[in-house]
Amino acid sequence: MYDNPDDVYYGPDDGYDGAPQFANEGSALRAAGPGNPRNLPCPTCGEPDRLTPADRRLGYQCDPCADRQEGWGD
Ligand SMILES: [Zn+2]
Repeated sequence: MYDNPDDVYYGPDDGYDGAPQFANEGSALRAAGPGNPRNLPCPTCGEPDRLTPADRRLGYQCDPCADRQEGWGD
């Protein structure tokens, strides 16, 4: 679970206990929560409210776009 040191990015003042929380199982997206609202559009498909500020910091896109990029889609 902690095999990616790049995942450790939460500061002490963001309301999290330090462990990344994921939006969905199998998703790279971070769970929305206090200080991390899901209110940003996906940079790939442009759908609103797809990413949290943490997701954007990490350069993520929404799950459907990530799935397409990884070859899970059609
Ligand atoms: Zn998208």
